[in-house]
Amino acid sequence: HAKERGKNNFQFYQAEMNARALERLELESDLRHALEQQQFVLHYQPQFLSDGKTLTGVEALLRWQHPDRGLVPPGDFIPALEELGLVVEVGDWVLGEACRQMARWQAQGLAVQKVSVNLSARQFSSGRLGQRIAAILQASGIAPGCLELELTESILMQDVGEAMRILESLKRLGPSIAIDDFGTGYSSLNYLKQFPIDVLKIDRSFVDGLPAGEQDAQIARAIIAMAHSLKLSVIAEGVETQAQLDFLREHGCDEVQGFYLARPMPAERLLEMLGSA
Ligand code: C2E
Ligand code: MG
Ligand code: MG
Ligand code: MG
Repeated sequence: HAKERGKNNFQFYQAEMNARALERLELESDLRHALEQQQFVLHYQPQFLSDGKTLTGVEALLRWQHPDRGLVPPGDFIPALEELGLVVEVGDWVLGEACRQMARWQAQGLAVQKVSVNLSARQFSSGRLGQRIAAILQASGIAPGCLELELTESILMQDVGEAMRILESLKRLGPSIAIDDFGTGYSSLNYLKQFPIDVLKIDRSFVDGLPAGEQDAQIARAIIAMAHSLKLSVIAEGVETQAQLDFLREHGCDEVQGFYLARPMPAERLLEMLGSA
């Protein structure tokens, strides 16, 4: 019986492997198709001062408008884009679209100061990123200071010397630099001080436990204090309750972003929301 079961397990395993390989192949051809068919879209999540009212900017977040699967979140396909080497191409599209949208909003008289764009590891270390961003900025016509680039600690710590060189070349173009998901990686304070960065984004895993969770509260306070002593601005992500917002404001966090304030939305929705405000 044991042998029989073993065989069945193996067959099951084999079938599962084939299904997964097939799924993978399907995803790959779907993603290449998506790029050609322009199925990628950006949603924008507003960011506010800690009063919870004054809009400071928006973060551009990638979605895939799939013909059958509907709106697919980035976590479901960005890793595959990375593996397939398509993430640089898609990332450049994101940068271009975010800057073009910014120009449209400005032409519509909308008070959006800045758009933040997430960069992937591969995109960051792809050669000539600076030149491509310079060209994208110029084509869009927006002021370079209206663009913010978000990088994670792990991207920067992979090769510190290289990261420093790339960051300095990006900074010279005019965008601001934010460290995303701050507190989840392993950045050394020594480098943090040397990197030409402007903003720390407190990861939402620390915002989760606020205000009652003593550990999260201590971490959030420490990040805010450290950011300010390094002359950096600090924004909290994943704010979902009034109590979290109150805590962050009372402890001097500069800006907030989260479902409690506004969800990521299509560009037209933002126009409606702000236009009717
Ligand atoms: P991220 O850059 O840390 O973006 C914040 C994520 O948290 C977004 O998820 C956003 O929808 C979500 N979020 C915002 N407020 C709340 C909240 O109050 N509660 C909860 N539970 N979640 C909240 P999303 O859009 O699914 O993006 C996930 C990640 O995918 C992003 O994390 C970012 O790392 C990556 N990503 C998104 N767009 C791009 C892109 O254009 N390029 C690259 N390379 N990565 C991207
Ligand atoms: Mg981000
Ligand atoms: Mg984040
Ligand atoms: Mg994240």
